[in-house]
Amino acid sequence: MGLSGQVAIVTGGSRGIGRAICTKLAQQGAKVVVNYNGNEALAKETVFLCESFGVDSMAIKANVSDEAQCIQLFEETKKSFGRVDIVVNNAGITRDGLLMRMKKEEFSEVIDTNLTGCFFCMKHAATIMMKQRYGRIINISSIVGLRGNAGQVNYAASKAGVIGMTKSAAKELAKRNITVNAVAPGMIQTDMTDVLSDKVKEEMHKSIPCGRIGSAQDVANAVSFFAAQENGYITGQVLCVDGGMAV
Ligand code: NAP
Repeated sequence: MGLSGQVAIVTGGSRGIGRAICTKLAQQGAKVVVNYNGNEALAKETVFLCESFGVDSMAIKANVSDEAQCIQLFEETKKSFGRVDIVVNNAGITRDGLLMRMKKEEFSEVIDTNLTGCFFCMKHAATIMMKQRYGRIINISSIVGLRGNAGQVNYAASKAGVIGMTKSAAKELAKRNITVNAVAPGMIQTDMTDVLSDKVKEEMHKSIPCGRIGSAQDVANAVSFFAAQENGYITGQVLCVDGGMAV
């Protein structure tokens, strides 16, 4: 198995895309830390799914927008599993609304989780990975960070920021054998998109050249590509997993 003996942390691993990433990495032999914010029961379910592949797994609660909790997430992982090879910054939220109606709190909450949370985890991952002289950091952005979207000024800012951070960190860390890449999903079926109206879903569906809404597994497959040891010459890249939507 390609990731045997490696240790992965997936933020927001309790459900949706994060859960699919956790199980994909476990299937390849990695020990997986399932981070979550509120849903302990779902995080434990993900742990159970990972363990069914014969690897160790544990759930750790940490709000990624709080640096002290991120530090604890990395310390607990290191204490239990000894190292950190793969970090997937997947935790994310939306607080959609039109620009003129958007409150500062709605803007800040999304930036704090999606962008600052990713910054904290990249920072503390890098500290460990620099010493190991090995690491794979994969940040989950969105095609909204590349193209923008009406009603998502806050989310677009956070996801565009993730791409800028990915490219900058890739340049800083490359010499230590640490790659930093981003995956930009399009429309993926999860709790996050279930709340959209049928009309919006229908319109989005029509704009996808592949003719279907994506699955969490589609995104997990791309993450596993960047996580692979043999893909160490690929860094600072953004891979769209969107059925051709952003082409
Ligand atoms: P989801 O189903 O809503 O799941 C969100 C996950 O993030 C949950 O595990 C949640 O944990 C966790 N989370 C939220 N706030 C957190 C915090 N402050 N600290 C730690 N964990 C936190 O979302 P999803 O659709 O799987 O999205 C996953 C990622 O893909 C996000 O970054 C999202 O922006 C991105 N994305 C999604 C789509 C899409 O179409 N679905 C498209 C492009 C990009 P709890 O369960 O504990 O609340």
